[in-house]
Amino acid sequence: MRAPTTIVVKCKLCNIDRTRVLFETDTCVVVEGFPHHRGHIVVALKKHATRLTELGPGEYLRFCRDLMVVAQAVEEVLKPDKLNYALLGNWVHHLHWHIYPRYRTDPDWGQPPLIPWKLDGNRVPPPELRVEGRPMADMEREELKRVLAASGESNFR
Ligand SMILES: [Zn+2]
Repeated sequence: MRAPTTIVVKCKLCNIDRTRVLFETDTCVVVEGFPHHRGHIVVALKKHATRLTELGPGEYLRFCRDLMVVAQAVEEVLKPDKLNYALLGNWVHHLHWHIYPRYRTDPDWGQPPLIPWKLDGNRVPPPELRVEGRPMADMEREELKRVLAASGESNFR
């Protein structure tokens, strides 16, 4: 058995800018990510945990179901050609799914999603793979909020 996760004093997720929150339940928060991929969404556990193995079976299943509900909403609203997912919990000590909508018109289509702020110095991507900021339109953001709210708490249980 591993030691419990160390909690950082000023946690970015516990102190999140509430204007980025699209939906939340008692167990997860759905946040608009950064515009390197239009519609980048983060589905984060409210609980501090950085490993899936820290979660009980009910928590794990709920977390995966939350991901599915949000993925369905993203597909309905943004109509991507594909979604990519990444489960992290490194800098922020809350397990969180990143959902990256991908489009055939993306300069990096067919490649793993590039994360611009991680690309520095020797890791700058070639120009044809650079991703410009493409924030969601206000209408898309409001529609995503509406669809998530319509999914209701029941779909997140
Ligand atoms: Zn926290």
